[in-house]
Amino acid sequence: MTNSKERLVQWMRDAHAMEKQAERILETEAGRIENYPELKAQLERHLDETRQQAERLSKRLEQLGGGTSTTKDVLGKMMGFAQGLSGLFAGDEVLKASLANCTFEHMEIASYKMLIAAAEEAGDPESKRVCEQNLREEEAMARWLGDHLGSMTRQFLVREASRATAKH
Ligand code: MG
Ligand code: FE
Repeated sequence: MTNSKERLVQWMRDAHAMEKQAERILETEAGRIENYPELKAQLERHLDETRQQAERLSKRLEQLGGGTSTTKDVLGKMMGFAQGLSGLFAGDEVLKASLANCTFEHMEIASYKMLIAAAEEAGDPESKRVCEQNLREEEAMARWLGDHLGSMTRQFLVREASRATAKH
């Protein structure tokens, strides 16, 4: 294999690990949402897409004879707060999770842009196509989150204010 092909395979393996991690985060978050049905539905939709993204990558890696790795935690430390938690989101955790999700989606976007360039350099149109498909889904998710941050924040503050009033 040429050097650029080796790099491509290695980075696609990293992307696969990133998607497996995204699966765990999205599952945990969707299960913890109580008051934001729209967000919950969107996270579940993207969870579905994320599973397909991982599947697309692992299929392509198999074709390239590269195999996959799921043990590498790409953003493990940063995203740690979203993992291993149980129960519902408390306080402003749902907003904190949305902030982390925006960060994660933009990291995914950057990863796929780099992979697309690497696939071009390696002369591998099929890998490029897979990465472009994943990229489009990440961009749509990042857009959705960005479009809803304002309204979610307002909802949160209104709910918090009405809870405070109810106590008095
Ligand atoms: Mg993804
Ligand atoms: Fe994503």
